[in-house]
Amino acid sequence: MHYLQKTIKQKIQVSGKGLHSNKQIDMVLSPRPINTGLWFLRTDRPGNKPVKAASENVTDTALATTIGLGDESVSTVEHFMAALGCLGITNLQVEIAGQEAPVLDGSAQPWVELLRNVGLRSLNAPRPFYVVRRPFEIVEGDKMVAMEPASDLSIDFTIDFPGFIKNQRRVFSFSENAFVSEIAPARTFCLQSEVEKMQAAGKALGGGLDNAVVVSGNGILNKEGLRFPDECVRHKILDFFGDMTLAGAPLLGRFTVVKSGHSLNHKFLASVLGTPGLLELVTPSRAPSEPYLSRVAPAPALNPAWAH
Ligand SMILES: [Zn+2]
Repeated sequence: MHYLQKTIKQKIQVSGKGLHSNKQIDMVLSPRPINTGLWFLRTDRPGNKPVKAASENVTDTALATTIGLGDESVSTVEHFMAALGCLGITNLQVEIAGQEAPVLDGSAQPWVELLRNVGLRSLNAPRPFYVVRRPFEIVEGDKMVAMEPASDLSIDFTIDFPGFIKNQRRVFSFSENAFVSEIAPARTFCLQSEVEKMQAAGKALGGGLDNAVVVSGNGILNKEGLRFPDECVRHKILDFFGDMTLAGAPLLGRFTVVKSGHSLNHKFLASVLGTPGLLELVTPSRAPSEPYLSRVAPAPALNPAWAH
């Protein structure tokens, strides 16, 4: 986990197709100074104000996570947010000339590569993070998201689908490199019947085999096959991590997730942030001399030498 705030070294432009609109969307990413946070600004409509990438600004969670304020919104931000969270980018302005982030290949890998290629700059200010202090869970039918205190960030995710995907479970322990190699390349997935239904309703018009794993019966339509045998559950971990990045600081704890999607992810995060005592916001006062996370845990006592 990165202990200093970060931004990018210079401005970059990214262009790509929107998943729902199928239109080319231009995005410009600009460095921002310390303590400014992550902001989206719609540049295709004059007079729009920037919107903070934060849980309280999530306005829609159907199919993707949408951030909005007033009349404007930016949707399908979760894979981009996951890349920012993984690389520890805390201050950034995102100007976007459209209603959704480009889908690219349906994973977070192109975002990670773009951001690493432009280069990251550590800023001279500590990066606060949330330590989970008390267990909490939210259950909706057969879906669940639970958290408990732990010295590391880990996500234990289970999905269960009939047909090709079946039951998949993966336990992921966070490190930047592990995220980049094990989780970021996992693409979004959908059933062929769902794609047809969405496209008939004018949605997912840009969706196809170049940006999603499309499941049909007992197989997939993508000629290149899967990137991992359990690519689907890895993508759910990616989505969950991206949605949790909207907390505004990384969460440090053990998460157990069963069949959750953007909607329950958001409900969970809003509940956790809105319930006093579940999380403690901790700001490191100096670089730890040994692995960061091992100095934090176990709850509840933090080493006062470098945390205040
Ligand atoms: Zn996704």
